Amino acid sequence: MVRPADPPGDPSAFARETGPTAEAYVDLAEDLDDAVEGSVRFDEYAQLLYATDGSIYQARPAGVVAPTDIDDVRAAVQVATAHDTPIMPRGAGSSLAGQAVGPGCVVLDMSRHMDGILDVDPDAKRATVQPGVVQDDLDDHLAEHGLKFAPDPASSGRATVGGGIGNNSTGAHSVRYGITDAYTEEVKAVLPDGTLLHAREVVLDGPEWDDIVAKDDREAEVYRTVRSLVEDNAEEIESRYPDLKRRVSGYNLDRVIYENEDGEEVINLAKLYVGAEATLGVIVEATVGLVTVPEETALALYCFEDLVAAMKAVPEALEFDVSAVELMDDEVFRLAAESDGYSEYVEPIPEEAAAALMLEFDSELHDDFEAAVAETNTHFVDGGDAFDVIEAYTDEDQADLWKLRKAAIPLLMSLEGDPKPYPFIEDATVPPAELAEYVQEFQDVLADHDTSAAYFAHAGSGTLHIRPILNLKTEGDIEKMHSITEDVTDLVLDHHGAFSGEHGDGMARTEFNPKMYGPDLWAAFKEIKTAVDPEWLMHPGNVVYRDGPDDVGPDSERGVGADMREHLRYGPAYQSLEPQTELDFSEEGGFSHLVELCNGCGTCRQHGSDVMCPTFRASREEIQATRGRANMLRAAISGELPEEELYSDRFQEEVLDLCVGCKGCSSDCPTGVDLAKLKAEVKHQYHEEKGTTLRDRLFANVDRVSAIGSALAPLSNVAQKLPGSDLVAEKVLGVAPERTFPKFRRETLVDWFDERGPKVSEAEAEDHVLLFPDTFTNYSYPEPGKAAVEVLEAANVHVRVLDTDDVAPSGRAAFSIGLLDEARERAQHNVDALAPSVADGWSVLFVEPSDAVMFQDEYQDLLNGDEVASVGANAYGVCEYLHTHRVHDSLEFDGAEEYLTYHGHCNQKALNRDHHAAATLQRAGYDVDHLDSGCCGMAGSFGYEAEHYDLSKAIGRILFDQVDSSPGEEVVAPGASCRTQLGDRSGHDRPPHPIEKVRDALA
Ligand SMILES: Cc1cc2nc3c(=O)[nH]c(=O)nc-3n(C[C@H](O)[C@H](O)[C@H](O)COP(=O)(O)OP(=O)(O)OC[C@H]3O[C@@H](n4cnc5c(N)ncnc54)[C@H](O)[C@@H]3O)c2cc1C
Ligand code: SF4
Ligand code: SF4
Repeated sequence: MVRPADPPGDPSAFARETGPTAEAYVDLAEDLDDAVEGSVRFDEYAQLLYATDGSIYQARPAGVVAPTDIDDVRAAVQVATAHDTPIMPRGAGSSLAGQAVGPGCVVLDMSRHMDGILDVDPDAKRATVQPGVVQDDLDDHLAEHGLKFAPDPASSGRATVGGGIGNNSTGAHSVRYGITDAYTEEVKAVLPDGTLLHAREVVLDGPEWDDIVAKDDREAEVYRTVRSLVEDNAEEIESRYPDLKRRVSGYNLDRVIYENEDGEEVINLAKLYVGAEATLGVIVEATVGLVTVPEETALALYCFEDLVAAMKAVPEALEFDVSAVELMDDEVFRLAAESDGYSEYVEPIPEEAAAALMLEFDSELHDDFEAAVAETNTHFVDGGDAFDVIEAYTDEDQADLWKLRKAAIPLLMSLEGDPKPYPFIEDATVPPAELAEYVQEFQDVLADHDTSAAYFAHAGSGTLHIRPILNLKTEGDIEKMHSITEDVTDLVLDHHGAFSGEHGDGMARTEFNPKMYGPDLWAAFKEIKTAVDPEWLMHPGNVVYRDGPDDVGPDSERGVGADMREHLRYGPAYQSLEPQTELDFSEEGGFSHLVELCNGCGTCRQHGSDVMCPTFRASREEIQATRGRANMLRAAISGELPEEELYSDRFQEEVLDLCVGCKGCSSDCPTGVDLAKLKAEVKHQYHEEKGTTLRDRLFANVDRVSAIGSALAPLSNVAQKLPGSDLVAEKVLGVAPERTFPKFRRETLVDWFDERGPKVSEAEAEDHVLLFPDTFTNYSYPEPGKAAVEVLEAANVHVRVLDTDDVAPSGRAAFSIGLLDEARERAQHNVDALAPSVADGWSVLFVEPSDAVMFQDEYQDLLNGDEVASVGANAYGVCEYLHTHRVHDSLEFDGAEEYLTYHGHCNQKALNRDHHAAATLQRAGYDVDHLDSGCCGMAGSFGYEAEHYDLSKAIGRILFDQVDSSPGEEVVAPGASCRTQLGDRSGHDRPPHPIEKVRDALA
């Protein structure tokens, strides 16, 4: 069933090393288990889940510990040290240079439990946090004080403060605020020997200094070493560290001794920890400075026909008191236009734009935005090279432009085929005044190497994210990557810049640090590292490396050398299996290509809005994020796991079964990793080999059960209440006893309509539609179906409710479980049944969103041909139909005076079709709070399955919180599952379908 693809390169070069397997670490794992309260996982799955970050690198760690507090960190570090095993803390693992990949390390996942906000002092504008807190969560917490943490990486929805300090992160507003080192006031760090170092301002030669250095301990050694190295190398520091807003490579020797606000000369080792990429200890607590959130902002996006002209405009833009100057090029626009999730944001940008500079103005610097923008318009459009400007004053318009800008990196990674715009010299930074010349010379380097690149980034601070397009599955392009980096680092030094102005050193750039800092400072780096970490156990090989085993440090090979070509995720030896699939993956370039689209950016670990990924949001477990699942799938198809693992019980249970199939990733993942589809395919192959369970068959055939239940109602409903029936359901079928099953109706929707007949004749009608009798609506809850008929008829539409003898259930349940033959059979039946009517101009309408989407989307993967395309194109959710065809314009309403909370269906959100119901409700006169909610957690049968009940409820609670904090008086939801989940809350009734509220408002 599975056949290997041809190897893409010469496997002899850069052979893949998987590193020691889990068995090598049994003693270490046992000792950690005894010493640590948090979870300890040293199995192969854990190694694979933490083997990558957002970069081009991959290397298995020894295992993963999720510490619960400082004592846990110390215990874990001490055990690892006793076993002479390196240590690497990690936040969201969204790094782009490989600095969150630790070969053979004990990974400390700080994001799991150590994410507390310990103290906020609004007057002093300061917060003390644990390192695992996500930056956006911190900002949400600070919002009530009108404050925020100033560094704002594009990844702030999942990036942690600890990871931000580790990398010295920054974002679009560095022009205005500077970078993380400016805001890191104090740090508590655990050193490899267990020392808890409290790094803060210490007045040089003051009593505190004297106390510290008088001791004979690690802390004293570190303070003495750093001070003497900084003082001895003062001239080198002055000449080697470039004068830039951003420089994050190397250690911050230029920032560690300074004059404080009271005019005292202080040493602050916290500044050294910023950008140290975990090489100097594990940060367990940080005190950071905060800034006031400007009340308002405005954006002006200037379009240029030429990239270099845009670059020339950057230094001029800085003259206008702007808070950000961002660049995007036409490659970003092109990819956004092709992406379902981002095409709407690129629409306003004129086609001729080769590059655009986006200027932000904030209310702390400007009190009249329109006047400020008029001034820049005069300069850049009337008197400059820009040919157009897009002005954005509302929050919504600005959010759209920022969304486009922040999606640039992952969008670029969605390029089809193996050549990709890879990050390795992507954040080199030069003074803004030198940008135009630098870009021209960069283009020459690329031309010399016969490649091209996309250009975007934080132009205002001189950082350009230039990503050359290479195929890192070939030896030639790996060498080309190295050669380009050699040339570009020379170029950057010629332009007084830094190799990294944002993303850090990691595996990509550490190799080049001696070139930038020269022999004296390089030696100083090594001495500092050795003073803090004599055995080089903390994340060795990052930021600084040893020149040989005889160099300072341990008597071993640890930390020796750095080569950007090692530990690559791909490489010539990489091969992947291309399973023969039931579903059509041609649009995605094949099954393996879809899996490999995951670049590790970590957007699926976001805590905030969007649909993706509810299971991570509820569990905070890496394996329950889209990325975790995609990484495991890649391991299985690329030989990291045995081939048969993909169809093992363990793989199903741990990797796939907890994916609720909400489809959120298909639209929210910037590269479009569609895990629901991948899951359905693998589950299908698994069922082929292992068969199906009674429960799978029951859920896949829920229509038949419902038909019998309805025929026997009310007896069948009484049977559900019999004592012990829930126990039988749990023990025999594995169904959660806590769940309420839908009651069966004696009179189905189809019965009701047969009895009643259409009220608008076909001859007199404006349009004619077929209403699909989905299982839930037909047998258990016909009210939305009846409401749909009444609303449509009020709009003079002729309606026929399809008979269950003529159409089959949509096959959604079978598809989600991976019973693809059954799903296809139903799809074929329905397409055959409906295609002639569709050809005659009938639309097919659905009350249940997941069934509508099944026709619109999954049927296209199951079947080929014009008929399925035509049926899919004429399938609509009922509100989608009313809104899309402006049918609701002809309706008359009484003027409903109610504020509704609308929770859309995740499947419809994934297709960007959930807004129609909100628009229809508004047309009916309601005020609507359209929740930015994800999956409700029921996901068809998922919430009924006993082993998934807790996760289902945990996902549901996220929705409940959103509903509870909404100003709406009543919640409405089109999905039958969502209404069940919301109705299963104690003290709450099952909410209505939006179409019922529309019907209620009819005049
Ligand atoms: C799409 C995308 C956009 C990005 N945009 C930006 C951007 O605009 N600006 C920017 O600066 N970066 C950006 N990044 C890079 C990255 O997201 C940021 O650097 C981010 O701050 C890293 O946070 P993290 O929690 O993921 O850290 P991780 O990647 O987990 O770790 C970062 C480093 O810090 C170390 N570390 C983590 N926790 C600790 C700790 N407790 N103690 C000591 N060391 C620790 C790790 O070992 C690692 O070396 C982007 C990445 C992606 C994928
Ligand atoms: S699944 Fe998508 S969002 Fe998640 S890490 Fe991979 S590419 Fe990023
Ligand atoms: S389908 Fe939903 S639950 Fe599954 S990985 Fe994608 S976003 Fe997560």
